[in-house]
Amino acid sequence: MTDADSCGMCKDMHLDENEHSILIGSTRATHTRIARNQAHRGYSLVVLREHITDLGDLSSEQLQAFWSDVQRAGRAIAATFEPRKIDYLVMGHRMPHLHCHVFPQHSEDDPLRNVDISDGPHFAPIESFHADARALRSAWERLGALSG
Ligand SMILES: [Zn+2]
Repeated sequence: MTDADSCGMCKDMHLDENEHSILIGSTRATHTRIARNQAHRGYSLVVLREHITDLGDLSSEQLQAFWSDVQRAGRAIAATFEPRKIDYLVMGHRMPHLHCHVFPQHSEDDPLRNVDISDGPHFAPIESFHADARALRSAWERLGALSG
């Protein structure tokens, strides 16, 4: 599953809503999405638009754009949900399309425990999940306006 035609992320990363997440915003390089599983409130993903499987295959311009968008997502999450810390995870053995998990750790999360993005699942009531998505989107948009 390494080509774009059979890639699950290429199929649905741009949709307003898909099975796993809701779109927060898009740049020329990426889509930022908030995960439906909110075991860690604010948990989001930044997905490269282009089907590239490995960080090592990015040009320096793509690399800069990708991490800049990851930073923007982290800042928006910090402003909205005030986690104690944010973990940034680039994996992809299961889903080989370059993306970064932006994974907030809150005061109730044990810092000595290994990070597990499959914690939960915890699905908030849909109204409060949508309210969180709106709050995150407005922080994300403010940060974009600030950076020009
Ligand atoms: Zn893909």
